Amino acid sequence: MYKDLQSVPKAYNEPVKEYRPGSPERIELQAMLKQMKSEEVEIPMVIGGKRVKSDNRIATHPPHDHGFVLGYYYKSEASHVTMAIDAALEASKTWSKMPWDHRAAIFLKAADLIAGPYRAKLNAATMLGQSKTAFQAEIDSACEIIDFLRFNVQYMTEIYSQQPASDKGIWNRLEYRPLEGFVYALTPFNFTAIAGNLPSAPAMMGNVVVWKCSNTQVYSARILMEIFEEAGVPDGVINLIFPSGPVGGKVVMEHPDFAGFHFTGSTGVFQQIWKTIGTNIAKYKTYPRIVGETGGKDFVVVHKSSNVDQVVTALVRGAFEYQGQKCSAASRAYIPDNLWPEIKDKLSDQVNGITMGDIEDFTNFMGAVIDEASFDKLALFIDNAKKDNDAEIIVGGDYDKSKGYFIRPTVIVTTDPHYITMEEELFGPVLTIYVYEAEKWEETLELVDNTSIYALTGAIFSNDRYATEYAVERLSQAAGNFYINDKPTGAVVGQQPFGGARASGTNDKAGSYLNLIRWTSPRTIKETLLPPTDYRYPFMQAD
Ligand code: NAD
Repeated sequence: MYKDLQSVPKAYNEPVKEYRPGSPERIELQAMLKQMKSEEVEIPMVIGGKRVKSDNRIATHPPHDHGFVLGYYYKSEASHVTMAIDAALEASKTWSKMPWDHRAAIFLKAADLIAGPYRAKLNAATMLGQSKTAFQAEIDSACEIIDFLRFNVQYMTEIYSQQPASDKGIWNRLEYRPLEGFVYALTPFNFTAIAGNLPSAPAMMGNVVVWKCSNTQVYSARILMEIFEEAGVPDGVINLIFPSGPVGGKVVMEHPDFAGFHFTGSTGVFQQIWKTIGTNIAKYKTYPRIVGETGGKDFVVVHKSSNVDQVVTALVRGAFEYQGQKCSAASRAYIPDNLWPEIKDKLSDQVNGITMGDIEDFTNFMGAVIDEASFDKLALFIDNAKKDNDAEIIVGGDYDKSKGYFIRPTVIVTTDPHYITMEEELFGPVLTIYVYEAEKWEETLELVDNTSIYALTGAIFSNDRYATEYAVERLSQAAGNFYINDKPTGAVVGQQPFGGARASGTNDKAGSYLNLIRWTSPRTIKETLLPPTDYRYPFMQAD
């Protein structure tokens, strides 16, 4: 059934390019940015391999320059969602029977296409469409998606090689079937890699997929689709559509062949959809697999023994890279009062010095936040912090949306450990700090554990092994990705499988076999070599 499982090329992490001045990768990327800005592109849906347009054409803009038009996508109606489901189910007839090694070859080719000829194009699209700097794009739309594709091929073979024991005269096998029906992949704006992984992981396991990307990620999603096609994903196996969330959800969640939901996005949307699935449960042919990675309120807790410079670097990078729009971004920090004066000075200096602006200027560390709704929400939290007695903005606090959605990196210090920005996910460049009495390590960890509904990532800093050991144990359920003396962002596929529990998701760990295993519905096959011919058992014989 699964021949040659050992022969698959061993996965390795794609090396991260540096984009130093004068480097070939920088020259190529800059030329690509220029070229892509010189043309307004059409972004139709891709259904059953066909380019499909609706009457509703919508412009897409760079967040850092919202007056500029990158191209136009076509909003999907309910009828397009149905078309995509039909195309997927049709493709399933052949794709579900495609042997694993051919599926593997397709996705390994996709990885190599991104590593080579498409690298600059996908990175440039991510920079322009999602306002990532060159480096933030490189670690996402080059390295992470390449790693997902290569490692998932390896994990797929590891799953297939898990076979049951057989006994004398009996041969047992597990056949790792795809799910019966289609998978709905609903993807977020903030990582091109996640947008690519959510449809490709189930497809790799033999499933067919209807993929709805975020409205603010269509510009790079279309290139992922191009790459999948060029790599050999057959028509209809992955179908890209652009409905509003509720329109897509209604058609999908009422369909009897809805067999799986692969989601990354906010907790509220996930919980709403889970409720709808529950309400509709009797309509489905099979219980849908539900995999969701959602929000976070990720912490950094600093012990009195920590190194100040290491802490400050982790806070700056962890909180402000990609404008704090990572589910793993450091957004609440607990600093001991013995270190606070020094941390405050150094942090304020460094945050004040952060360069922000158009991502085409490579000297910038930050771009703009994704859209106006996000900008307005963040501005409101900042304005409230300016007014509230229990909060003080020590650095940042300025914002301007005249050209792009720019929010200066902002640090709030609060005297209330339950102040709203210590608890709610803001998804922007805002870090809130609570200064605690240095001797109260245990009480502070208790506070960290109980403050938020989320449990995605978290970091502790400590140079005291007893304190470290205590924190690892005390915070065992507070984060799915836990860091010791490091920032809470930057998980690498194959090294730190990613995901959290509590309100942060189902913790199915993207970038590991644990995620892939959700996209298969195994069938046990028992074959008896010489079947018995007498129904009576020996114990039935008379004494
Ligand atoms: P979002 O929830 O707004 O959107 C995610 C997807 O759901 C998009 O495709 C969107 O169009 C769709 N959607 C929105 N409202 C919908 C509705 N009512 N019905 C159906 N679909 C709907 O999230 P986002 O702003 O794109 O991404 C940011 C969120 O994602 C943050 O909460 C972040 O923490 C989370 N995230 C989590 C992880 C993780 O691994 N845990 C990774 C990245 C992002």
